[in-house]
Amino acid sequence: MLAERSRTVDYAARVSGCAVVVGAGVFGAATARELARRGFEVTLVEQYSPGDVRSGSGGDTRLHRCSHGDAEWYTQSARRALELWLALEEETGERLFEPVGVAWFDTGGDFTIRSETTLTRLGIRTERLTPAEARGLFPSLGGDDLRSVLLEPDAGVLHARRATQALAHGVRLDRGRATPADPPHADVVVWACGAWLAGLFPTLVRQKVTRRDVFFFGADGDWTRAPGWCDYDGAYYGTGDLGGLGVEIAPDVPGDEVDPDRVQRLPKPENERLARQYAARRFPALAGAPVVGARVCQYDLTADAHFVVARHPERADWWLAGGGSGHGFKHGPALAEYVADCVEGTREPEPFHALGPRAPGAGLRTAHD
Ligand SMILES: Cc1cc2nc3c(=O)[nH]c(=O)nc-3n(C[C@H](O)[C@H](O)[C@H](O)COP(=O)(O)OP(=O)(O)OC[C@H]3O[C@@H](n4cnc5c(N)ncnc54)[C@H](O)[C@@H]3O)c2cc1C
Repeated sequence: MLAERSRTVDYAARVSGCAVVVGAGVFGAATARELARRGFEVTLVEQYSPGDVRSGSGGDTRLHRCSHGDAEWYTQSARRALELWLALEEETGERLFEPVGVAWFDTGGDFTIRSETTLTRLGIRTERLTPAEARGLFPSLGGDDLRSVLLEPDAGVLHARRATQALAHGVRLDRGRATPADPPHADVVVWACGAWLAGLFPTLVRQKVTRRDVFFFGADGDWTRAPGWCDYDGAYYGTGDLGGLGVEIAPDVPGDEVDPDRVQRLPKPENERLARQYAARRFPALAGAPVVGARVCQYDLTADAHFVVARHPERADWWLAGGGSGHGFKHGPALAEYVADCVEGTREPEPFHALGPRAPGAGLRTAHD
């Protein structure tokens, strides 16, 4: 215990100066920005470009919600992140967040009930709507299976790629692929490598990299005001028609394991069929609507859907951050504060973000693989 304490103090005294963050996805770009804000001389190393479509952060839209069941750490993190996203929006003058709210379709599980309890305790606004009331939120809503709808009115949708690029803007960027065998030299290195993290540190990080197909449907103009939505038990999620992309419907069904560098990013017909079936059932006005776009992305799933934030066991100056598990985007800037605190030695990483094996459990997100 004493040895541990003195190591932390020595280390904290030593870190200042030069930091390298490997990976310019949302976790890496936000961490680089935060370390720079704290006075580090920061270089961001990226093999492609910030917000590249092969990265997890390279999608068009990502839901921002505070509901995480009983997982208060994540609820608080999402709330803090929204403050930081709005501050970034103001600072850059770019539209990064659409404050359209997020509606949770309650079809019988207890996720929305547990979330509502946590949100209420933390003073985060919610509204519990009957299916009839919820019809007012969408131009069309099929609700025979709905018990109720939990609305987070202050939640919404982030423009993911644009937001990632805004975070990276202003930080020195080096193009290239860093590896632990040929690492960058700095006082601190943060490896924020998304779906590539386990490949770089196979004995330390356990994650499954699986594909997800997301579809956009052509709809009438009144879908621009619809909230984002989650069918936790479905499992499906999506958005209204934001930024002219079309109405997004994402089947969150188990996907094949993929190599993020090599996977062909063309959607699978069976996933399109699932999205169409869901559209026809949940939003009947969209039955027969044309597909106007699609994206193929990958999740970097830990077994329990908790993130990874940990110091490398043999390199006290290296930190690993990742395991977004299909729900990391919204947390980006708040996670960056947490990682920077860990780097500076003012906060200890949470035990549930540790390296090594995890007990299975995916309660923090919609999908169940
Ligand atoms: C379809 C889909 C929908 C999602 N929906 C949501 C949602 O609604 N809400 C939400 O909050 N989250 C959502 N997520 C999850 C979220 O997008 C991810 O958790 C998050 O973007 C991961 O960010 P990251 O920075 O950890 O990884 P990434 O964005 O993948 O970034 C890692 C970066 O590191 C680079 N890199 C890797 N290895 C190296 C190396 N050796 N050298 C140099 N560079 C390297 C990569 O090129 C990449 O740019 C979704 C994800 C997907 C795929």
